[in-house]
Amino acid sequence: MLITDYLLLNYKRCNRRTYLDIYGNPQQKDPEKDFLRKLKRENQSHIRNVIKARSLDYRQPEISRQNWQLNAQQTLKLMQQGVDCIFRGTLSLSFSQWQAVLGDEIFLSKIKNSQQDLLSAVIFTAAPSLLIKQPGKSRFGNWQYIPVNIKLGRRAKPEYKLIAAFHAQILGIIQGIIPTRSQLILKEHNDYFINLDLWLIKMQYIVAECFAMLAHKLEPEVFISRQRCSLCNWYGHCYGVAQQQQHLSLVPGVTPKRYEHLQEIGVDSVESLVKVAETSLGEMVGYDVARQLKQQIAAIESDRALVRSSFDLINTQPISTGAIELYFDIEAEPERQIDYLLGVLLVDRAENTEEFYAFLAEKPEDEGQIWQQFLNFVNLYPDAPIFHYSEYEVDTIKRLAELYNTPKFITKELLSRFVDLHQWVTQSVVFPVESYSLKALANWIGFYWRETQGSGDQSVCWYDQWLYTQDRALLELILSYNEDDCRATRYLKDWLLDFLESQRNEKIRVIASQR
Ligand code: SF4
Repeated sequence: MLITDYLLLNYKRCNRRTYLDIYGNPQQKDPEKDFLRKLKRENQSHIRNVIKARSLDYRQPEISRQNWQLNAQQTLKLMQQGVDCIFRGTLSLSFSQWQAVLGDEIFLSKIKNSQQDLLSAVIFTAAPSLLIKQPGKSRFGNWQYIPVNIKLGRRAKPEYKLIAAFHAQILGIIQGIIPTRSQLILKEHNDYFINLDLWLIKMQYIVAECFAMLAHKLEPEVFISRQRCSLCNWYGHCYGVAQQQQHLSLVPGVTPKRYEHLQEIGVDSVESLVKVAETSLGEMVGYDVARQLKQQIAAIESDRALVRSSFDLINTQPISTGAIELYFDIEAEPERQIDYLLGVLLVDRAENTEEFYAFLAEKPEDEGQIWQQFLNFVNLYPDAPIFHYSEYEVDTIKRLAELYNTPKFITKELLSRFVDLHQWVTQSVVFPVESYSLKALANWIGFYWRETQGSGDQSVCWYDQWLYTQDRALLELILSYNEDDCRATRYLKDWLLDFLESQRNEKIRVIASQR
């Protein structure tokens, strides 16, 4: 059994993913997403940029990492020769080499006797971005190596630390001494040094747990988490399983931690969440959360939207409206840190018309220009409320204003017109949906995007391809997707306004009839 750093990285993110990578049916995997391909390309170019910026003179094995055995032999030779910097190398060792240094107690504590034989077949492989020579003694002579991992992330995530510790351990066994440090170089080219005292031991337990899961073929339970699953190739398969099981992770508000608490009182399905008393639930997850979960499940069971029990239907001022209204949505490219499309749908209620305006940066350097055009446009309608869905639009306005030296009073006046519908939704209505994304809500109330493959991530890929190919069809896709985002925002706002008003009238009628 091959235990690689890649396998461990995924295990730390989601142990089910590692299980499926080894035992899953490859035909059930989703095709690789454009966005993931883009991230991989960017990661490679980030590594090259770091090497260039630090003027690292490296050598690399002639054989690619695909052939890890030969690559590992050549990497070892380069280390024995004392090469200053080794790029794209592989480190590998057998379980008996690991055991000779670290023993096997941790592994034996995790596995059944019947699986112990499998240990002798374990091979560990590690592929640090770089191995860098340092002064000091090692099996090779008067020098040793440290592993360096170059990552695109902005912060040192736990999975990066795990891998950095794994690399340090494997390298330590090979060179006969644990490296003095294990280093990460992150997105802003900033260095981060792993606390090896902490992570070397943690890593040993995680490696042993991962091995035990694979050796015993224990398929971990599915748990759909939008953030974690959205880029996973097993998403389609796992989502199907979750739906079939009516898994609680599909209920908004059930986080992994809350799910653990729910299981403690025997709540592990939608059905059992319906049946459990709110007070028992409240003792485990808190009374406010219990009330929200109960309402959420009631909405799902009845397939009806409900007014949140915490919402003051009578005294809350309705959503602001205007003769002219603007619906605003942004497309942004996080890697280049630019907002390349500021889309606005202008709705004239008196004339009963609507028109979409797109401020599009065909080149990243046009961002300042489209910002100014956007400001000029919205200033033509100083009384129009500006509806958007999420905090991102507000944060972006602040970022652009600061970047392009917009006077503070202009930004303040502009932001005072912003109405965040996501905030309205989460405070006032419980929807029978699996997520409170704009797409999920708009779909439920009957709005559909023309571009069925569209998403924020896909729009970023279209923009990236546009910059390389100058194919205007890609810009059309971006515009159509953004326009529909604006229209969906309008659809949702109109629906919300009507719904809350009708519910309010109904409540007033009931109160009056009780007097
Ligand atoms: S889709 Fe989610 S639950 Fe399934 S393997 Fe991927 S990350 Fe894990």
